[in-house]
Amino acid sequence: MALRIGNGYDIHRLVAGRPLILGGVTIPYDRGLDGHSDADVLTHAIMDAMLGALSLGDIGLYFPPGDPHVGRADSLKLLAQVKELVEGKGWAVGNIDSVIVAEQPKLKPHIQAMRSRLAEVLAIAPDQVGVKATTNEALGPVGRQEGIAVYAVALLTER
Ligand code: MG
Repeated sequence: MALRIGNGYDIHRLVAGRPLILGGVTIPYDRGLDGHSDADVLTHAIMDAMLGALSLGDIGLYFPPGDPHVGRADSLKLLAQVKELVEGKGWAVGNIDSVIVAEQPKLKPHIQAMRSRLAEVLAIAPDQVGVKATTNEALGPVGRQEGIAVYAVALLTER
């Protein structure tokens, strides 16, 4: 069976006056992520991992920051488009794993909901979507709660 692997990384700044959305789940917090679309940093890293697995570039290529059609888009809709692209090339998601690096808030209560939302969009089982969370031990910009970063990998299988 042919396999392809890709990795993705993203980081967004935490600011006041924005919702905090991770994996399509809105998490109660006094700040949210700033940036392109809804700034769902988890979904962005996963899309980059899926695209990377096929050497198709990154999400900036398909959803440029200045594109008015992207605007404040729901990143899960963008993920659905990346899924279609990958499937159109003859590949399917075998599994995804990810690590959210955030000092605050505590994400553990929301992990299962994120896995379910992402799995639903990708039409795979929640046990094919790993989402883990860790702090940065108070080190660096993430440790100072200036932003949230995510690392993701995606394994694709030939359809
Ligand atoms: Mg991003």
